[in-house]
Amino acid sequence: MTQSYVIIGDGISGSSAAETLREKDPDADITVVTDEGEPLYNRILIKEFAKGKLPEAPISIHDEGWYEERDITLSLNTHVTGVDPEGHVVHTHEGDDLEYDKLLIATGGTPTQLPVENSDAEGIHHFWTFQDARKIEEDASEAEKGVVVGAGLLGIDLAAICGAQEVDGKYLMRGNRWWRYALSLDGAEIIHEGLREKGVTPVFDSGVDRFEVDDSGRVTAAIDPNGERFEADFVGIAIGLDFNTEYLRGAGLEEDGGIVVDEYMQTSVDDIYASGDLTRFYDTILGEYAQNGSWGSAKEQGTIAATNMVNDDESEAFRWVSSYSITHFDFPFLSFGHPTLGDEYVERKYSDTEWRRIAIKDGKIVGGVLIGDLAPQTRLKKLMREETDVSGQTDVLIEEEIDLDDLAVSQ
Ligand SMILES: Cc1cc2nc3c(=O)[nH]c(=O)nc-3n(C[C@H](O)[C@H](O)[C@H](O)COP(=O)(O)OP(=O)(O)OC[C@H]3O[C@@H](n4cnc5c(N)ncnc54)[C@H](O)[C@@H]3O)c2cc1C
Repeated sequence: MTQSYVIIGDGISGSSAAETLREKDPDADITVVTDEGEPLYNRILIKEFAKGKLPEAPISIHDEGWYEERDITLSLNTHVTGVDPEGHVVHTHEGDDLEYDKLLIATGGTPTQLPVENSDAEGIHHFWTFQDARKIEEDASEAEKGVVVGAGLLGIDLAAICGAQEVDGKYLMRGNRWWRYALSLDGAEIIHEGLREKGVTPVFDSGVDRFEVDDSGRVTAAIDPNGERFEADFVGIAIGLDFNTEYLRGAGLEEDGGIVVDEYMQTSVDDIYASGDLTRFYDTILGEYAQNGSWGSAKEQGTIAATNMVNDDESEAFRWVSSYSITHFDFPFLSFGHPTLGDEYVERKYSDTEWRRIAIKDGKIVGGVLIGDLAPQTRLKKLMREETDVSGQTDVLIEEEIDLDDLAVSQ
């Protein structure tokens, strides 16, 4: 019997799932639905477009022909409004009903809005889609003064865009440093210096209380909680993601700050799978539920979900050490695994641009951050993937060159 699969979301997770479904089930009906107006593109690279450093073409990954060649139905500009698990039907905003045997939810997230006065003014940007990048590029290229809020992995992209577009940027952060959950002051200071070299000034113990606008509704300044005023005709906000799950209300899927799936990407509802940024998945390395917003992880989850949608008796588990790199500075930066989930941390600074911090939980590596020298990443990730017990010998992990033979391995 011909199976029918519906995938909601054509990001890297949904699209990888579609590709795998076609490989594993050549006769199936496959439909991919997305509310964006263009097929899969490289979300990681849109920041380079917004910096003005990359044209549009190389950012696209699939054109519509890619789906046609694989006999996959692609519905662009189509917003899913509801899912009926009993009837095995997906509802769209145009009133269409799409029937499925197996469904994949891969709808990712939408940037969280800053709940302050005038945060919807002209010139204030959130960053997730290619359309956002086009508007950011246009605005930033004409702006003189910028403010960025959100001291994390996406906020730093907006700060780097200010730098590349020669906008005099102020990067307002809570506390005394960038990404304070994963970096100590020693590590963060390398990033702060990198920002300054790009013409972006980090401002600590700050944030935004409200924005000021002119008569046309365009942003003119940000006022921080200390009452300090920062002039700005360009603002970037990156304070987190709200997962796109509102259309699932009433469908009975278990959620816990994300859609809960097991290691096979199966949700709590029969025949419905989920993959990508919006999952709270059972992490077989950690031995507990976890979340992860990264390209490689979203791709792998999509592939695993599709494999199990086709053949659920030979289930394949998701087992993955993710990584996320930043390439804005003269020195490289990489975080891997879950760098904030340790119960113990070891770190070392090697030079003005080299630093490493490893997160350890129950004697095992669960993540880390490397600045300057990324060479140890392969060994560290291997130790994490293999759940090697490093208790009592964590010094080896911060040797300049890690020699695995120095570890007396006790599994
Ligand atoms: C600027 C930027 C830079 C990044 N840099 C990096 C990086 O350097 N390294 C890294 O690992 N990761 C990076 N990421 C994160 C990475 O891009 C994400 O983890 C990954 O794209 C998530 O893929 P996904 O398929 O789960 O979700 P998404 O890519 O968010 O795709 C979900 C899709 O579903 C659609 N959708 C949502 N709701 C509906 C609905 N109701 N109906 C129909 N369609 C819907 C959305 O419009 C979207 O197209 C970056 C992200 C951004 C925005």
